[in-house]
Amino acid sequence: MMACPSSKTSLVQANLHHSETASAQLRKWLEVQRTAIALIQEPWVGAGKIKGLNNLKGKLFYSSEHDKPRACIYTTKDICAQPLTDFCSRDMYAVAIQYTQESRLVVASVYMPEEDTPPPHDLSRLVNFCERTGLEVVIGTDSNAHHPLWGMEKPNERGVTDSPLCRACMGEEETAAHVLLKCPEVATYRAKHLGTPGSLPEVACNIKGLLSFFGEISWLE
Ligand SMILES: [Zn+2]
Repeated sequence: MMACPSSKTSLVQANLHHSETASAQLRKWLEVQRTAIALIQEPWVGAGKIKGLNNLKGKLFYSSEHDKPRACIYTTKDICAQPLTDFCSRDMYAVAIQYTQESRLVVASVYMPEEDTPPPHDLSRLVNFCERTGLEVVIGTDSNAHHPLWGMEKPNERGVTDSPLCRACMGEEETAAHVLLKCPEVATYRAKHLGTPGSLPEVACNIKGLLSFFGEISWLE
């Protein structure tokens, strides 16, 4: 059994949008990785098979029972990965990775269709299984959560959170001071509409700038 040197393993999550070009780009990246795991959603598929990622030296995991699988996992050849068949479907694939004699890690690739109510039942089952068995789990997903901060035109319900953390940077609590004075992820919008304010009272004097700032980052809803 080969060990997986966890500190040197590259991990990537990628939605390929069924694109030949995106598959070629990912393939190029995988070709130069020694130890890597790719959690892929919406791969390029033809005749029930995933295209563009075959004939690499590693292993490509996906559910072949479905015509158009929307989740797959690629692991380089030095990684010892076993499918968790109870948790593999068209939209989800999970493998257990043995990285020392005693230690296993679960990685999963999940596609969450927009028309379904999240989280998917299979994903909840997987998380329960990992909690019950004490296994660490890494999930790479296309959750179809939309928000202008991530490049979409409009937010959807999944893009709105009740977490106290800043929805832009997830680094600090989302207070007025954080968003208006500090948050690195909205710095461009802040500079555009508010300049470089030094304090909250200073920002409060610029109502027009405030409205256009929040309007642009779509946090007025
Ligand atoms: Zn922030």
